[in-house]
Amino acid sequence: MTDNHEEWSFETSLLHNKHKVDPATGAVSVPIHHASTFHQFEVDHFGKYDYSRSLNPTREALEDIIAELEDGTKGFAFSSGMAAISTAFLLLSAGDHIIVTEDVYGGTFRMVTTVLNRFNIEHTFVDMTDLDSIKAAAKPNTKAIYMETPSNPLLKVTDIEAVCSFAKSIGAITYVDNTFLTPALQKPLNLGADIVLHSATKFLSGHSDVVAGLAAVKDPELASRLGALQNSFGAVLGVQDCWLVMRGFKTLSVRMKHSQDGAAKIAAYLEKHPLVKKVHYPGLPGHPEYSIQQKQSKGAGAVLSFELENEEVFRSFVDHVTLPVFAVSLGAVESILSYPAKMSHAAMPPEEREKRGITNSLLRLSVGLENPDDMIKDFSLALEKSKAAAEGLTIK
Ligand SMILES: *Cc1c(COP(=O)(O)O)cnc(C)c1O
Repeated sequence: MTDNHEEWSFETSLLHNKHKVDPATGAVSVPIHHASTFHQFEVDHFGKYDYSRSLNPTREALEDIIAELEDGTKGFAFSSGMAAISTAFLLLSAGDHIIVTEDVYGGTFRMVTTVLNRFNIEHTFVDMTDLDSIKAAAKPNTKAIYMETPSNPLLKVTDIEAVCSFAKSIGAITYVDNTFLTPALQKPLNLGADIVLHSATKFLSGHSDVVAGLAAVKDPELASRLGALQNSFGAVLGVQDCWLVMRGFKTLSVRMKHSQDGAAKIAAYLEKHPLVKKVHYPGLPGHPEYSIQQKQSKGAGAVLSFELENEEVFRSFVDHVTLPVFAVSLGAVESILSYPAKMSHAAMPPEEREKRGITNSLLRLSVGLENPDDMIKDFSLALEKSKAAAEGLTIK
């Protein structure tokens, strides 16, 4: 059979990629190679595989697939999203300066502010939606710009192409954390980014059953530097988990589509509710960067956040809502409601959080595969029961 996989659409290539069939056995699932080491048949010529930290066939399959899905040339699988991000930061050297999205993921914030700083890598947090403040933050030693879009948890949207083109003009590399949208909706490498990063723990695997990280790059020279760092740092993904991520890939497109449709419906519902102060979702026409989101991605994704009238309403709502799990994380088959101030952003000092708009009555919702009408029913009942907590307040 000929292999036409380069011609297929994204949805089809999730299933019909070069690892669809195991060439040795015909198995329609990538074999899990538990070997840590590989026999060498010749004393002078070692085979492709020698030791699994450096390369393992199961991990290689996952790395090939993420590279292909992101339109890169090389992919890398790590033991967590933070392992991917931290390893990619090791491309920097002492004396470098980086510009980072101000409402970046809490773990990335911790890495930048408590680890990189000890290695004399300076940082400036900026509002990545504002090109002028990015330009103002640039210094002669600025070596990288780190984006996360839509951002977490306020769903601010960065114009990836504009930031990448500015970065190129000052000789800085660009990172994009693409966890929220996945290549099903957004492909940063095609917008000029150098390195795309993922917590594959989220939408890519999609079932709340694995912790994993991925990276993909286009440039072969950058790929070889990142590969050397992956091997040196050694935070590679185990083979069982590689397999789970690859299984998740197969349903990525249908999951994203269903969850995104649900998120749009729920966001529109919340926007009209009198106890909801603000809804952050880049798929709402009123979102400040709605048009940028439309331009650079195929959709707004399945994560939204909303601020309730006050902390009492927030507490009562969380007490009464029944469908979503109340937990950290996102991007799963079940809807996940989380409390950024105490969960993903707990590592951020309270003053910093408030300054960034991550208040104590802000909730983040990752929409799963439930029927969105059931979610709306559940939310309506919980909000109805929370009305008492809002008593004495002006209801809009
Ligand atoms: C969860 C997450 C991370 C960290 O990934 P882990 O797999 O938990 O290490 C990084 N970025 C974003 C946007 C995330 O949601």
